[in-house]
Amino acid sequence: MQIIRLKALSDNYIFVLYDTSKNIAAVVDPAEAEPVLKKLNQLQAELVAIFNTHHHGDHVGGNTQLMQKFPQVRVYGGIEDRGRIPGQQVFLQQGDRVQFADRIGEVIFVPGHTRAHIAYYFPPESAKEPGELFCGDTLFAGGCGRLFEGTPTQMVDSLNKLRDLPDNTRIWCAHEYTFKNLQFALTVDGNNADLQSRYQQVKLCRTQGEATIPSLLGVEKRTNPFLRYTEPQLQSTVNSKDAVQTFARLRGMKDRF
Ligand code: ZN
Ligand code: FE
Repeated sequence: MQIIRLKALSDNYIFVLYDTSKNIAAVVDPAEAEPVLKKLNQLQAELVAIFNTHHHGDHVGGNTQLMQKFPQVRVYGGIEDRGRIPGQQVFLQQGDRVQFADRIGEVIFVPGHTRAHIAYYFPPESAKEPGELFCGDTLFAGGCGRLFEGTPTQMVDSLNKLRDLPDNTRIWCAHEYTFKNLQFALTVDGNNADLQSRYQQVKLCRTQGEATIPSLLGVEKRTNPFLRYTEPQLQSTVNSKDAVQTFARLRGMKDRF
């Protein structure tokens, strides 16, 4: 399974999963159809699946047009998103499995950004290889999604599920927000040496117009304040001893940043 990253809208990423042996493709969160159609045309591949993480327009905007072009395509999304994802045919919940290119993806229910949000996790094929996590707007490189329909408790539960995956998991999140996220992170976790060096690295990367996605879960655990709500250092920054309260206060600060 090859993963191809496409740019869309102002700062979205769309991921095309490509099965080279069968010449079929799947797409995660098609914000718009045009870049996907262009890539599929280049590959001469048939689109067989749309994996949506949640119902927001910048994640499902391309569904209808892609379905017109590929009438056989299956449209996947969370069960709680019934009625909100254009063309949805498969209604997924925690623990369900999806298949593409001889890989099995596990569905993780991660409410918080929206009440129906799911992530897709493809475990590694061998111990040396990374796993692949498509997490939409739940976990970002250096940050996390805003709470539109969920509570801090729900979001912490969701992030805990993602934090439990192996460190060598590639994080394919849906937006290029990394630099701004790390600017904020430095204001709350400024003594973190790993964070400082990541900030410099990402700054250089963005100056050169390069993407910072995918990132690695191990890096996120060391540098992303929204996975570090149990760290005494961050808890003392927001004057709390409680993980959920720490998360909620950090999220509130980020909303105003
Ligand atoms: Zn969203
Ligand atoms: Fe989004």
